[in-house]
Amino acid sequence: MLSKRMNDLKPYKPGEQPSDRVYVKLNANENPYPPSPECASKVSRFLADDLRKMALYPDPDATELRKVIAAHLNETGGVLANDDAAKKLGFEITPDMIFCGNGSDEVLSFVFYAFFDSASPVVLPEFSYSFYPVYAGYYDIPLLKVPLAADFSVDADAMVAAAAKSSGLIFANPNAPTGIALSCDTIRKMLLAYPKDKVFVVDEAYADFGTESVLPLLAEFPNLVVVRTFSKSLAFAGMRMGYIVASPELRNAVTTVKNSFNHFPADNLCQEAAKAAAADCAYYRKITKQIVVDRDQFRNELIAAGYEVLPSSTNFVFARHKSLSGKQVYELVKKEGILIRHFDIPGVEDFVRITIGTAEQMRQLADVMKNL
Ligand code: PMP
Repeated sequence: MLSKRMNDLKPYKPGEQPSDRVYVKLNANENPYPPSPECASKVSRFLADDLRKMALYPDPDATELRKVIAAHLNETGGVLANDDAAKKLGFEITPDMIFCGNGSDEVLSFVFYAFFDSASPVVLPEFSYSFYPVYAGYYDIPLLKVPLAADFSVDADAMVAAAAKSSGLIFANPNAPTGIALSCDTIRKMLLAYPKDKVFVVDEAYADFGTESVLPLLAEFPNLVVVRTFSKSLAFAGMRMGYIVASPELRNAVTTVKNSFNHFPADNLCQEAAKAAAADCAYYRKITKQIVVDRDQFRNELIAAGYEVLPSSTNFVFARHKSLSGKQVYELVKKEGILIRHFDIPGVEDFVRITIGTAEQMRQLADVMKNL
């Protein structure tokens, strides 16, 4: 009864959500803080004043939301943790450069469909977001995996060298699950050496927690597509809102894919709440900076306790114990009521990925991990 395609699918596994007890949940890179309080008033006003909107289809192109996202990016430069990022932008991001979808997972699916082919592989790092190979399998796109450099960073030169034989290239920056970012300057050099007729995708799911975004490069490279999400820095994982920023031409291509699959990926309530969230840069700057402070403090504590912890520009750290396996660390921490993430993937199986929660949660986890 099942298609061959279906039998070949290898679905993505998100962080577990067990219900046997209440856990401190540091395994899915969710934000420990609620979204902007403005979302609450927007949502209650929506429910009180305009319930009939639930009976009507939403704006398929999220027109108002795209205006607010453009203003948000022009104000923040795409990095909430760094007040100076906006100065680097150097041009104005306009709403016709933005496409909104149902979380960046869905947006990434449209991106794979729009820009990568079955005839030649897509280039990606050996370790990056594990949904990329799933989409490649879904659309029958071959993969060309490039090993990370010895320090676990994305190997910029090797990625570009591989691109000649490909239909496109994608990686997360900062990368996941390592947390390490390439500089904007390094990515500019990659783009200069990269074929102008192929699309270069940078997934900036975690860029708000770092120091730089590649958004300024959009002015110079019309083949660059930047994928971003509300899920992490805007505390919106439960509402589902992701978007791309690209040239209007590439943005329109993704819209065509969307309109061939589902006209209305973002419902009315989500669009209302997302507008309130994206408009409140002051609140998000505050919580993002707090997460960065707590991340750096937690990382230092783990290093002092003898762990190897990769540098992080994200809301998580990737760490390994000097003698215990990643699986053992994960299991011992789970016994103490805290969920972290272990990837059973050869090459990174000794590491655990830990989401940065509140200062109190990180103190609790540091106490557990110091004693392992
Ligand atoms: N990209 C990366 C690198 C991620 O880690 C995630 C979160 N799992 C996503 C995209 C997808 O996030 P969402 O669908 O919640 O926007």
